[in-house]
Amino acid sequence: MAWDFETDPEFQKKLDWIEDFMREEVEPLSHLGMAAHGPLGREKFIKPLQDKVKAQGLWACHLGPELGGQGYGQLKLGLMNEKLGRNGLAPTIFGCQAPDTGNAEIIAHYGTDKQKEQYLWPLLNGEIRSAFSMSEPTGGSDPLTFRTRAVLDGDEWVINGEKWYSTNARWAKVLVVYAITDPDAKDPYRRTSIFLVPTDTPGVRIIRNVAVGAGGEIGGGNEGYVEYKDVRVPYDALLGERGAAFVIAQVRLGGGRVHHAMRTVGACKHALDLMCQRAVSRTTRDGRLADLQMVQEQIADSWIALESFRLLVLRTAWLIDKHKDYNMVRKDIAAIKVAMPKVYNDIATKAAHLHGALGVSNEMPFMHMVTSSLVMGIADGPTEVHKVTLAKQVLKDYRPDNDLFPKYHIPRLREEAQEKFSKELSEMKEEYARRARDAASA
Ligand SMILES: Cc1cc2nc3c(=O)[nH]c(=O)nc-3n(C[C@H](O)[C@H](O)[C@H](O)COP(=O)(O)OP(=O)(O)OC[C@H]3O[C@@H](n4cnc5c(N)ncnc54)[C@H](O)[C@@H]3O)c2cc1C
Repeated sequence: MAWDFETDPEFQKKLDWIEDFMREEVEPLSHLGMAAHGPLGREKFIKPLQDKVKAQGLWACHLGPELGGQGYGQLKLGLMNEKLGRNGLAPTIFGCQAPDTGNAEIIAHYGTDKQKEQYLWPLLNGEIRSAFSMSEPTGGSDPLTFRTRAVLDGDEWVINGEKWYSTNARWAKVLVVYAITDPDAKDPYRRTSIFLVPTDTPGVRIIRNVAVGAGGEIGGGNEGYVEYKDVRVPYDALLGERGAAFVIAQVRLGGGRVHHAMRTVGACKHALDLMCQRAVSRTTRDGRLADLQMVQEQIADSWIALESFRLLVLRTAWLIDKHKDYNMVRKDIAAIKVAMPKVYNDIATKAAHLHGALGVSNEMPFMHMVTSSLVMGIADGPTEVHKVTLAKQVLKDYRPDNDLFPKYHIPRLREEAQEKFSKELSEMKEEYARRARDAASA
């Protein structure tokens, strides 16, 4: 019987290395801000750390060995990602940053040799970046509202449309673009195809770079609002089959949602650590914050929420390893996608609150965490949509009762039990009658 919550000692050594590396190297670097992100900063600061990760065999661990990863599977990846999740820079340093991970995954699955040569290997080596250009300003939750079109003209596709929140478009070498190619297909989910479009193709223009969160300069963010105007690409810019965009998307989004959830466990743990640290350090005239029962309640509630979420995430990872098919784990993936923003928001908000004015200042990470928790409820589809998926998956195992009263109606269950045990009941009845007679005659 295998039902085990232990980490094997060999892998624990890797986790210990990651823990030290995060504390000693990654976290200090993240405080340099933009200095670490420009082309020179990447060369000077990020690349040496990426090399250390590669030397440890921890680079791009979401991938199988055929693609240069370790083939650890999702459960081990989950334990690693918990550590990476407490710092936004870590995924880049470990070669597993969104949206490149998902983009590489679909190019690996569906790309031609030429596409792999052009984009996959450079992406996996961290030499280029990519963007996923699916959502449109018309509404991202319902992909059937998208309007971007790709029309064949000779042996070229001509793409026209606008995309919204194409993360990292400004840094990307290639854009993974969704466009309608077959508007008359009977199945609406077979109308859209995916194209790999080099960012420097004439007609591709970033209208604006939108930033997440309050403040900051308009136009200074990483979320590309992108225009495609008469963008011409060759026929073989198509990724996978024509009309297969939504099938391909499931491969990409399933993995992505799980990886976000794994990292969110780490982010929640970080918020709880800071909350506890403050609680034992800050005093009022009645003693430490940690000695006040309402504070204790917040810490207890946060711990329970985090540990429950963590188990749900790790079990989902274990199920993916077991089935090797995201579709068979759809319910569980939807569940962690729904749980993630709530748990993160609750813990981050409580942690901010416990730090008082300092907590809501820009000198602490909590406002960023709260914003990130809201993002988790929107990016990759809003919570409501995933609740519907989850509920449908749960309900599909149930069949209707056709009687007026349900089959678990207690009078009916009692009647059935009496029938099932009628022999024993009549034996007992006789025995009681015999004892009564014996007692009367004694
Ligand atoms: C930080 C960030 C990064 C992103 N990165 C990318 C990216 O790289 N590439 C990309 O293509 N997209 C990206 N997105 C876009 C993301 O996928 C969409 O924002 C998301 O699908 C929701 O679409 P929308 O923002 O247009 O909201 P809308 O579709 O307008 O929905 C708004 C709200 O309406 C409600 N709602 C919508 N539909 C339903 C429903 N069926 N039932 C009940 N309520 C509903 C929900 O409350 C929902 O939050 C990113 C978003 C964020 C925030």
